[in-house]
Amino acid sequence: MTTLTINDLHVSYGGVKALRGVSLRVEEGEMVALIGSNGAGKSTLLNALSNVVKRKSGEVIFEGTDTRGMSPYAVSRSGLLHVPEGRQVLSDMSVYENLQVGLIARGKRKTIYSLDHVYELFPVLEERRDQISGTLSGGQQQMLAIGRALMGGPHLLLLDEPSLGLSPLITDQVFDALKKLNAEGLTVLLVEQNAHRALEATSRAYVLDRGQISFEGASSELAGNKAVIDSYLGA
Ligand code: ATP
Repeated sequence: MTTLTINDLHVSYGGVKALRGVSLRVEEGEMVALIGSNGAGKSTLLNALSNVVKRKSGEVIFEGTDTRGMSPYAVSRSGLLHVPEGRQVLSDMSVYENLQVGLIARGKRKTIYSLDHVYELFPVLEERRDQISGTLSGGQQQMLAIGRALMGGPHLLLLDEPSLGLSPLITDQVFDALKKLNAEGLTVLLVEQNAHRALEATSRAYVLDRGQISFEGASSELAGNKAVIDSYLGA
């Protein structure tokens, strides 16, 4: 089944055309990478999927329903969960309280992602359950942001630059957790500037270049395509 289909999506900020006719799809159970350089429109795409920014035109079909006109809250309640760039944990609240806030999106939907499941995935969150979140390290905050989204029972998880500002070792831990979640069946759309990591972790990938998809295909094929990597990602 197709979890997400985007058809000819356009988003503008005043006169700035951030997305110019983007089409892509994510099948159930896939982990798909969206990569591209600074300002390509990656965050705009995720924000348009969660209706945090309004689309100008185009379709976003999530599990068979166009999300047009839904509030960001209603989108999250339907199972489309977004971990934004910069994590945005509730910094005055404890780890445990942040995870409880995640439950709001779940409503009465059934999910495999219990508190125990999150603690098993990220043991440091259980060790620090009473710590104020603003005092966690960047990596721990990233884990908390992912854990909070899991508590919402995602059918599709959107991740915006999970490796941003993290050391290679912590990035490994976060990516290991994502791979584990995907192996358990979670569908993921992963935005990353770190193309090599994203391509290694995913099966398919799209490259976004100045608001348009310039490449789509198997992640392994893209990883081996030096010309595309060099021209679009400067890696
Ligand atoms: P980065 O990796 O740097 O976060 P990105 O690929 O996520 O980049 P976006 O943040 O989506 O790119 O930005 C796409 C374009 O839209 C850029 O030209 C950016 O300057 C512009 N843009 C983004 N947000 C706004 C906004 N709120 N108002 C006006 N222009 C914006």
